[in-house]
Amino acid sequence: MTRLATLQERIDGPLLITNLINIRYLTGFEASNAALLVAPGETPKLYTDFRYIEVARATLGVEVVLSKRSLLSELAATLKGTLGFEAAALPYAQYEVLGSGGLALKPTKGIVEGLRAIKDESEIAAIRHTAIAAERAFEALTADTFVGASEKEVAWRLHQLLHAHGADNPAFESIIAGGTNGSKPHATPSDDIIPARTLVTVDWGAVIGGYFSDCTRTLATGDLSDELRRIYDVCLEAQVAACAGIRPGMTGVEADQIARAVIEEAGYGEHFGHGLGHGVGLEIHEAPRLSPESTDTLEVGHVVTIEPGIYLPGVGGVRIEDLAVVRADGLELLTSFPKELVTVS
Ligand code: ZN
Ligand code: ZN
Repeated sequence: MTRLATLQERIDGPLLITNLINIRYLTGFEASNAALLVAPGETPKLYTDFRYIEVARATLGVEVVLSKRSLLSELAATLKGTLGFEAAALPYAQYEVLGSGGLALKPTKGIVEGLRAIKDESEIAAIRHTAIAAERAFEALTADTFVGASEKEVAWRLHQLLHAHGADNPAFESIIAGGTNGSKPHATPSDDIIPARTLVTVDWGAVIGGYFSDCTRTLATGDLSDELRRIYDVCLEAQVAACAGIRPGMTGVEADQIARAVIEEAGYGEHFGHGLGHGVGLEIHEAPRLSPESTDTLEVGHVVTIEPGIYLPGVGGVRIEDLAVVRADGLELLTSFPKELVTVS
């Protein structure tokens, strides 16, 4: 069954898709200006403007409608009755335009995102391919010198290596956090020089063909203090326990708790202030969530990160992150760079 047909089975009335990534997922069509009208039992209508019309007409399973640039005002003038819309993908100003012709608008949440969360084998293969390219780039990075370089320099090197290894783009601005900057989970690469005998957190990923990867390794730049060595070992133990223990059917809260229990037991609970992981696919952060606040339940086909961290202000930090697919018997890792502490020069 096609993705569009699956969606048509899940809805009981017309739904307007304005999230461009959802449109891409459902139809393969990519544009900066598009809307997709899906209704049970009807051929879906794909609206776009002149700039994308040739590509749109090559899209299978939809009727293409050439629209003016302001798609929503045209839809407002031509559609009648009740229309579902994606609440998270329609700014209020556009909501007003869409409702200006008298349509009764009904908010929906997470319908296509719920479909996207479960990956088919072709998507898993695409994510694995992206993850492998990103790891090759990282492997090349670790052969180079860290000590004495600035975080920005290392980030730029990684950026180039990602492209050299086939990435369309980096998945996000890579995090290179050395020494005390490592205590900030989402540190921005700075001009600070990476010192010897500390930890350096590298969180990076690639995008290829629309699919993202996400991975973190924390490297040592020489012998470490007992405290840094200890937080690395505790974080690794928590990460390995979560990778080994997570099963489909667990809630995002239960999955998070596997790693959190290890870190709490070691006395660092208050220094692990974010969730264990998140879904990855056509976006770097998507459903499901693994955290103390999660309302999700893990299912076969979810692709998630497992990324505990320990952050000690003024001292340093560690995070270890793998990307994995949920299988019937547990997690299959899509990242494979060693997790035992690697020392770089
Ligand atoms: Zn990451
Ligand atoms: Zn992540």
